[in-house]
Amino acid sequence: MVIKIKLATKIFKRNDWYVTSPFGSRAPIKTKKGITTNFHNGCDYGTNGEKWGQYALENGKILSCGIASDGAKFIWVNYPRINKKILHYHLDSICVKTGQEVHEGLLLGYTGSTGMATGIHLHLGMKNSNGGEYEDPHNYDYQLKNINHSETSKIDLIEIAYEVIAGKYGNGKTRIDKLTNMGYNASDVQKIVNEIKNKELKGTNFYMVKKDDTLIKIAKKFGTTWEKLYELNKDIIGNNPDLIKIGQILKY
Ligand SMILES: [Zn+2]
Repeated sequence: MVIKIKLATKIFKRNDWYVTSPFGSRAPIKTKKGITTNFHNGCDYGTNGEKWGQYALENGKILSCGIASDGAKFIWVNYPRINKKILHYHLDSICVKTGQEVHEGLLLGYTGSTGMATGIHLHLGMKNSNGGEYEDPHNYDYQLKNINHSETSKIDLIEIAYEVIAGKYGNGKTRIDKLTNMGYNASDVQKIVNEIKNKELKGTNFYMVKKDDTLIKIAKKFGTTWEKLYELNKDIIGNNPDLIKIGQILKY
């Protein structure tokens, strides 16, 4: 399973940002210096007029930072793993130095409106590490590092799926936002939620085994005995009732 999130979510460590001006727009933009129709070589993110912190994505290095000719405070960070360099522009203040090594979650600076900006926002730019044209950073799916493809991810997702069913994350967009904020792929969680619910709709009751479950625990939950449960699910569990596996779907 691969988890991807928007760069802005990772940079702000929150997801209530909004796009105020997309990449590539040639629509006239009003600035302090008047109307400009320049190609927009980044994506602008609004922050409710607040000076939110901006944080490093992962291990990288500050290529340069300081004050640009238009007065904007900026930082260029290079991230070798993803082969991208990222520009943070219009910062209110800068918390790093050129040449500094950074790591995930390190505070780089605060969102501001320095330079030609009409309000507090982040202008985010992105290029390949070795240069070239600006790319649309909003179109880029940042792939979280250290996501392994082992059972662990599935274990977490089943836990979360049950919490979703219990109503812990609300519904619709609220749910998706909360899950995304926690670093989960909301649609992967939803798939498991659906899997559990679809089984339950078919008359027979089903239960998906989660972390730390035992047959006795499950039996207790559904007011039955582990012996009856085992009898019902022998074909799935096999010879040893102690060996139920996470993600197995049991009848009860
Ligand atoms: Zn911009």
